[in-house]
Amino acid sequence: MTLTLAVLNFLPGEGNPATMALQHHDEVVLLLGAPGAGKGTQARFLAETLGVPHVASGDLLREHRQRGTSLGRAAQEYMDRGDLVPDVLVVDMIVDRLNERDAARGALLDGFPRTVAQAQALDDRLRRRGGHVRCAIYVDVPTDVLVERLAGRWLCKTCQASYHEIFNPPASDGVCDRCDGELYQRPDDKRAVVSNRVAVYLRDTLPVVERYARQGVLQRVDGNQSIEAVKAALLQAISEDEPVPA
Ligand SMILES: [Zn+2]
Repeated sequence: MTLTLAVLNFLPGEGNPATMALQHHDEVVLLLGAPGAGKGTQARFLAETLGVPHVASGDLLREHRQRGTSLGRAAQEYMDRGDLVPDVLVVDMIVDRLNERDAARGALLDGFPRTVAQAQALDDRLRRRGGHVRCAIYVDVPTDVLVERLAGRWLCKTCQASYHEIFNPPASDGVCDRCDGELYQRPDDKRAVVSNRVAVYLRDTLPVVERYARQGVLQRVDGNQSIEAVKAALLQAISEDEPVPA
């Protein structure tokens, strides 16, 4: 499935409750949050509410590589050498995505930027196009809660459905409710490595959160509550957001 088709599933419905209206292709909302903060679920909800596409940098990268675009081939060369894909290349993919018709009112970026260097690259590129980060939402969850959530996560090998030992266990151990597939733990969801993963994220990304706080566009949302309560807090955050003077 192409990204464009995936996005069509999330076009806004009637009675959009958000008062925040994105103005043009180069206005973006960022959703920031550590692994385990529940960002994936909330990103889809938020994009649908705002009536903009949900753009995840990891998905974009995969898409470009699969389609064999010039950006995808360039990224592949770095990956083949075992190097990280340069930030500017990822920003190019994001900007390319912002040019698409469904992003006429901007986009929700999920999972990017993760570092100050990425944030700098994104801000610079948007500014050159007359755009900006309209709002950066940080889903804040205490470190010990993040570790607890991640360490208990199991995925279906067949359909990738996600379960949790405590919060969302399957009906029978090790078997997917939906498709009877076998459940497994990703190596990086094992307790031993989860703490380090969270620590690395916070080390790299909290400075990004501070950056957007200094720019006056940060909204903090308490992510340590039910999914419904987080949704309500997100709605509150985007409805409080005021237009930034151009
Ligand atoms: Zn399954």
